[in-house]
Amino acid sequence: MADNNPPLPDFTRWPSFPFEGDMRVKPLAAPVDVEPPRSGEDAADCVACNTPDDEYIWISERWRVRAMDRPTGLPMVVILECRSHLDIGDLPNLLAAELGVMTVRLERAIRSLDGVARVHVNRWGDGSAHLHMWFLARPQGRLQLRGTFLTLWDDILPAIPEQQWRENLAMVAAWLAEFGGQAIAEPPHIQWESPSTINYGGDQKDTSSDQPADSARLPDAPTRHTSGDLIADIPAQRVGTEEPDTSAPGTSPVAPAQVSTPY
Ligand SMILES: [Zn+2]
Repeated sequence: MADNNPPLPDFTRWPSFPFEGDMRVKPLAAPVDVEPPRSGEDAADCVACNTPDDEYIWISERWRVRAMDRPTGLPMVVILECRSHLDIGDLPNLLAAELGVMTVRLERAIRSLDGVARVHVNRWGDGSAHLHMWFLARPQGRLQLRGTFLTLWDDILPAIPEQQWRENLAMVAAWLAEFGGQAIAEPPHIQWESPSTINYGGDQKDTSSDQPADSARLPDAPTRHTSGDLIADIPAQRVGTEEPDTSAPGTSPVAPAQVSTPY
């Protein structure tokens, strides 16, 4: 329509493009001379370095995996981080090699979930300075979600049920823990389990229905019946090259992952 507006690119006609109707290309802003610092360029201000382990779904001595702070449209969106305050190009050989192992392992874990056809692995690095790799699960059968627009669809689709989301996170955490490290995410509690035998002494308010604040850490967390299948598959995948994470420095913690634009 407008004279100076460039034609829409071909991808706007791809089946996977999430929008339709009249569109136009935005004007391109002028380049800046000096780019602003990314979030957490300094380790002291780095969200990843300052986030405690219990905000993650799985941790090891050199790596951690975190989820968003709530369910989104895809079956799983998680982020792999190293503990060291480094970006991808700065990794020493040990961490670089482990990044490959962790990427393959996490992809396999997510792909093992029911209803997941493919796992997209992305590193943008424009938002936060600390290395963070995105893993996004593309739902089985959803051919329209194939390819580069998956992150957009994640925001468009209705969020998956929280129960399913928590189960998925617990499954992936358990899978990773089979190779080392520690699963933090646990399966959601089954609502019909009676908490009446638990006595916390101090607070005598109604104990008949409310879950205690830290109920996720109680030992009566149910084991998903499907976990046997998951575990059973794992030894075959190990093929000698998998070793549990052993030594390594810890770092300190800072803030839960927010659902936000993946940079
Ligand atoms: Zn950091």
